[in-house]
Amino acid sequence: MKDSAVRPPARRRFLSGPSQRLIGVFVLFILLPGAFLGGLAFRALRQEGQLAGQRIRESLERTAEEIGLYLDAEFRRWSDAVRSAPKEKIISADSFPKIAGQAFAEPGGGIFLSVTGGDLETFPSGALLYRPSGVPRPQAAASRPSAALAEAESLEITRKDLERAVRAYRSLLDRAGTGERPLVLQRLARTLRKAGKLDESAAFYRELQRSDVVWIGDLPSDLIARSELCSLAAEGGDPAGLAAQALAFYRELTGGKWLLDKPRYLYYSDRCRAWCRESPLAADEFNRIRTKEEQKLSLSSAAEELLNSPKRVISGESETHLAFWNTDPFTALLLSANFLKSHWWPQALSARRDDLKAVLSSPDGSAVFGTLPAAVPAFAVTQDIRIDDTPWLLQVWPGRPDAIRADIKQKQTLSMAMLGFVAVLLAFGSYITVRIVRRELEIARLRADFVSTVSHEFRSPLTGIRQLGEMLLEGRVADREKQRSYFRMIVEESDRLARLVENILDFSRMEEGRREYRLERLDPSPWLRELAVDFEAEIAMKGAAVEADIPDGLPLISADKEALGSAVRNLLDNAVKYSPGTKTVRIEAAASGGEVRISVRDRGVGISEQDRGRIFDRFYRADGEISKRVKGAGLGLSLVKHIVTAHGGAVECESRLGEGSTFTIRLPAAPVTGG
Ligand code: ADP
Repeated sequence: MKDSAVRPPARRRFLSGPSQRLIGVFVLFILLPGAFLGGLAFRALRQEGQLAGQRIRESLERTAEEIGLYLDAEFRRWSDAVRSAPKEKIISADSFPKIAGQAFAEPGGGIFLSVTGGDLETFPSGALLYRPSGVPRPQAAASRPSAALAEAESLEITRKDLERAVRAYRSLLDRAGTGERPLVLQRLARTLRKAGKLDESAAFYRELQRSDVVWIGDLPSDLIARSELCSLAAEGGDPAGLAAQALAFYRELTGGKWLLDKPRYLYYSDRCRAWCRESPLAADEFNRIRTKEEQKLSLSSAAEELLNSPKRVISGESETHLAFWNTDPFTALLLSANFLKSHWWPQALSARRDDLKAVLSSPDGSAVFGTLPAAVPAFAVTQDIRIDDTPWLLQVWPGRPDAIRADIKQKQTLSMAMLGFVAVLLAFGSYITVRIVRRELEIARLRADFVSTVSHEFRSPLTGIRQLGEMLLEGRVADREKQRSYFRMIVEESDRLARLVENILDFSRMEEGRREYRLERLDPSPWLRELAVDFEAEIAMKGAAVEADIPDGLPLISADKEALGSAVRNLLDNAVKYSPGTKTVRIEAAASGGEVRISVRDRGVGISEQDRGRIFDRFYRADGEISKRVKGAGLGLSLVKHIVTAHGGAVECESRLGEGSTFTIRLPAAPVTGG
């Protein structure tokens, strides 16, 4: 019955034929597009970062445009307010936009001017420190000195007869009308001072200060009195008196009481400060007045410039002002840019966008609101905006660019992480798919091999049976002993066929999940011994033998006798099949740890480590000479595994190439039933 096994040529290379094609298709339609899309997504993500910056800039540009429209509307509103402002004396700020009203309340914050018939009116009234050049001084009564006064002056100045001059002034004083009285007082005080009568002089100056104000020359009488009193206190070595006098004078002067011309104002302002510094006065108060004066000085200088040549932006040395005016009669609203910058500009910005920084530059390029940092800020946008039909420049940038950058970065990182996750998922999925496809292809191949192997398995016993049967039928075998041996061979071959058919049927039932096991309590010892004896009888004529080492008293197991028997027989079959030299196989049984172990041991060809992992797979047959020669369908061990697993057990294989193999079935002992 030896058959030089005509197994079809094995196609063992996994990546050949359909497998390779499938993997090619997979790579072409899934992996490559996946990698390409991944690359695109990666690029898109990087661009997204730039786009985010771009979007921020675009939104800033829109904001800048909105601010431009707002400024234009606001400037027009202020211009209109100037046009409709009352021409008569203004008594309240209510006729102006709210912000102008607030500016008026702040020293140097803002002023409304109107020039009618050469007369200058301001609101608030003391907002200017000096009269702008070109605006004439209000013509107050400065009556021509009478003849008597002229005589007294001649005594004082030309003839330098101070005593007679004093007498003359005194007598004049008794007679002088209210118009001339301040003039006489001033002359008298002056002459007394020249004569060294300082106390008397001071008394008359005090009186002059209290009396009605008249302009003497280019100066108001009370200013002369204040100035002289300070000078007298300084000369008389009266620091406390000087302190009080000088501070009061300085306060009045900077309060805009007199509206002197600029040089005179500056002269008296200088004197006041010099006196203040000489005297021990309250430094706080002095500094307050000084600061106020400086603010009003720049407003006064802007007003002067505005009256000489009106323009929207008046850039002074220390400050910039915005002007809105109307001609004929000339009325104008002048607002300090510094004031607007702190009281109006921040709200104008924050109403449009949180955390916005901006610089507005006038058409001549000077920054009106805001200051540009030394380095160009991140995300900065420069936008031409139109205010009053002229192009202004607005630069805007976010106050906290780091937060924006961090936000963009965070979004990018998140997207990257997601992309990475998808890539890992794809790679893992691909790996699993390739494995499954390879396995399925392998099984398909093995199945094809199986059909040819099984047909072959059938063919050789059938041929044998047929030939033996024919010989017996035709009476060609005369020897009775030979006849008996032929009959036995026929029976054996039929057994083999029957077992094969049984295996195939079992296998197909298992594949379809129809295999059912009828478990019963079974004493393994007698059952295994019987099985060994039966098997030995079958193989005896091949000259093989079974050594059985089966002790008594093994725990009972719960088993389907037939199925488990077929599993053990398969192991015994294999042990004989794959031990071409030695013909003795061993079957052993033992109890250990609540288990019964049934081992089938041979000294055959052994199984390589690589094959050991796969011999329990259906259709799998190990490579090698012996497998080619030995008949088999690759079903036996997969059946064994299935059956044993269904019994709640496990099957293991220990083997060394060339030395033999041991297959062990481990089955749980059946629970001991009560009684
Ligand atoms: P078959 O024996 O029909 O080929 P099996 O499923 O019973 O199928 O066995 C699978 C493979 O495992 C065999 O082809 C053989 O290569 C290997 N094998 C099984 N039992 C043994 C053994 N006792 N000694 C060596 N190899 C074995």
